[in-house]
Parts: sequence; C-alpha cells; structure tokens
Amino acid sequence: MSAPQISGFLIDIDGVLITGNHSIPGAAETLHYLQQQNIPFLLITNTTRKSRVNVWHQLKRFGLSVEQEQILTAPLAAVNWLKQRHVSAIHLFLSGSAVHDFRDFKITSGQPEYVVVGDVGNDLSFDRLNQAFRLLMRGARLLALQKNRYWQTSEGLTIDAGALVAALEYASHRRAIVIGKPRREFFLEGVKLLNLPPEKVAIVGDDLEADIQGGKKAGLQTIAVKTGKFRSYLLEKLKIKPDHIIESIADLPNLLS
Ligand SMILES: [Mg+2]
Repeated sequence: MSAPQISGFLIDIDGVLITGNHSIPGAAETLHYLQQQNIPFLLITNTTRKSRVNVWHQLKRFGLSVEQEQILTAPLAAVNWLKQRHVSAIHLFLSGSAVHDFRDFKITSGQPEYVVVGDVGNDLSFDRLNQAFRLLMRGARLLALQKNRYWQTSEGLTIDAGALVAALEYASHRRAIVIGKPRREFFLEGVKLLNLPPEKVAIVGDDLEADIQGGKKAGLQTIAVKTGKFRSYLLEKLKIKPDHIIESIADLPNLLS
C-alpha cells in the first residue's frame, strides 16, 4: 500500500456499491468491515435524480446500511452553494425526487438567477431544453449539478447530464459552473466531513475522469474499481493512473490489510 496510509474513504455509489437494480457483490460486507474497523467513510455521488433521503432508502433496500449524514450528493452540494450566495430564485432542469432537495428556493420559469441542470432521463424534451436555453439567453446563469458523459444502467451505458449541459453551453455561449465531481470543492466538502486531511483519504470510484482524476486534483489517494462504467481501455486513452485498481468494492478490505 502506498504512503501515506489511508485513514478514510469517499466512496462513489453508482457502479461501485450498486448497479442497475442490485448491489454489487461484497458491497454490504465492505461497508460493514469499515464500520467494524472504525474507518470513517462517506458516500459521495453525482446522481442527480434522487434526493438524499431517497438514495438512503434505496441503499437500505439493497442491504447497505449507512447514516443519512454519510451521504453527500451533488444536489445537496448545489443547495449549499446557492444558499452561501443568497440565491433565492432558480429554474430546475431536473427530474425525480432530487427536486425536493431544492424546496427552500423559489422555483420559477420567470426570472431565475440560475438554471440548475441535472440528468432528466426520459423527461427530456425539446421544449424543456429550449426553455432552459431561453432563460440563459435572458441572463440566468448555468449551474450544472455534474457534467458526467454517461453512466452504467441495467440496460447499458446511458447518456448523463453532461451532454445536456454541453448542449446548453454551446447554444447559449455560457460556461456552466459544475458542482459535483470532479470539482475540487465537492471532494473537499466530503473530506471535511470526515475530519481528515485530503492525503489520508482515498476516493473509490468507477469513473476515471470524475472520481479518479478529480480525486487526484483534490489531493486524495485514488482507487478505481473495475465495475460499473469502468473500461480498461480508458486507462490508456485518458492517461489517468489510479493509485490502486481493484476488481470490485469487495476487494477493499484486502487492500487495507
Ligand atoms: Mg460511479
């Protein structure tokens, strides 16, 4: 194991702990192991369709028991970011229960200060995309919950919010502010909750750009898992070198011992 020692973990959820409609074999045992060993960890996710409480329920259904406070989602980080800036009116280009995380804001299609963009899945329509575009052209700023290209679902690789963010950036000549991974501050928000220095924390993820490259830039150690969207050819293509590569989350205890 590389020095300095790993004292805590940020663990990605989709593709690491769960995929499609089931948990990844060994995920529950590894979380249990970390709890037993008193090794602090936080689940950090770019998922934008679900509220934190919803993510927590889903994990629980899959036999993965954590405290709600151990889950940090991109929508929650966006809520904090907007509140710090005293933003009140936003437009949500967002779907699913994640919308509830924004309940303290005035949601409007009139004069929003920010257009908040996440993955909308099948709720995507030209009209909806165009409405967001028009608000940007009228002066609203673009806040992307994340800019992931794609993710792994039970049906296969699936286009993610990043493609929609890119479309809106292109059409509006605006650059989005990106809140989730790979943004450095998102990792550091997680690290702070663990109460550890970044170099003692390792990110475990299946996304080489968002998790591994982003984690490196935030000063964390990096562990790639070969599950979820991980594809070996991308290591070469993207020239990203994780500190460790393990078959799956099931192998994490071995790496530590
Ligand atoms: Mg993932």
